[in-house]
Amino acid sequence: MFDNLSDRLGNVFDRLRGRGALSEQDVRDAMREVRVALLEADVALPVARRFIDNVTEKAVGQDVLRSITPGQQVVKIVNDELVEMLGGAEVEGLQLDAKPPVVIMMVGLQGSGKTTTTAKLGKLIKEKHGKKALMASLDVQRPAAQEQLKVLGEQVEVATLPIVPGQQPVDIARRAMEAARLQAVDVLLLDTAGRLHVDEALMAEMKAVAGVSAPEEVLLVVDSLTGQDAVNVAQSFSGEVPLTGVVLTRMDGDARGGAALSMRHVTGKPIKFAGTGEKLDAIEAFDPKRVAGRILG
Ligand code: GDP
Repeated sequence: MFDNLSDRLGNVFDRLRGRGALSEQDVRDAMREVRVALLEADVALPVARRFIDNVTEKAVGQDVLRSITPGQQVVKIVNDELVEMLGGAEVEGLQLDAKPPVVIMMVGLQGSGKTTTTAKLGKLIKEKHGKKALMASLDVQRPAAQEQLKVLGEQVEVATLPIVPGQQPVDIARRAMEAARLQAVDVLLLDTAGRLHVDEALMAEMKAVAGVSAPEEVLLVVDSLTGQDAVNVAQSFSGEVPLTGVVLTRMDGDARGGAALSMRHVTGKPIKFAGTGEKLDAIEAFDPKRVAGRILG
């Protein structure tokens, strides 16, 4: 994760730290290299630009350059700006305190990892939050998608809504709400259908499902390996449905990290979780401080 960026930044900062005194020009030269490293990591251009401007403004301040350890201070400024870029110092958790059943609606394109993430969250809600969860697949687009969630539900020992062949998404959502009430479920996870691309039919379906289920959380699942496309998908969705957060999957295979680094500033939406593998416990709360720490080694 972030291997290339981490290496590149490491080189720049080793050089900065190695020097006793720093001139304004040294800082500007280093920031030029950081900018290239960010763009190579597939960070969106306006995000990279803003990052460099902020760091430069703070770093060329008199106090920093006159201090005994200017290089270290610049690295600290970079660390703080990275945390900001990734979403700020707070870890944005799930909103589960509303009157049950609290509905979490999972949205995203086909193949993004939505069904797997639904099961991962079901397990986490049961085990970490100690709440009773129910999962329902509204995916009538992809063959066997409903079966897939059922099988995953058995693996994580979280109940799934029985499948009624032929039923349409909005009706499944209504039935799931009813079942959740009757069974005193705390959290209902709705795994909605994806499509290959963002299209009108998909958005209409998402709005209709949100209309009948009044979700507390609408989580967009995107594949971090798709880089800026993941950010574009998030922008398209957030214009149509009230997203409360993003789950970035396949972070385990993402050497560049551009989606993670651009998501917050381009879309305004927090990354709430990172998927880190195929196993059903391979999910982490997204902690900007920890991620920044990892990038800077
Ligand atoms: P959906 O079409 O969006 O519901 O996608 P699926 O949940 O079926 O996931 C598609 C594939 O991606 C499956 O093989 C998952 O095991 C895999 N997958 C999902 N999340 C992750 C992740 O965080 N890391 C890795 N390595 N694979 C993942």
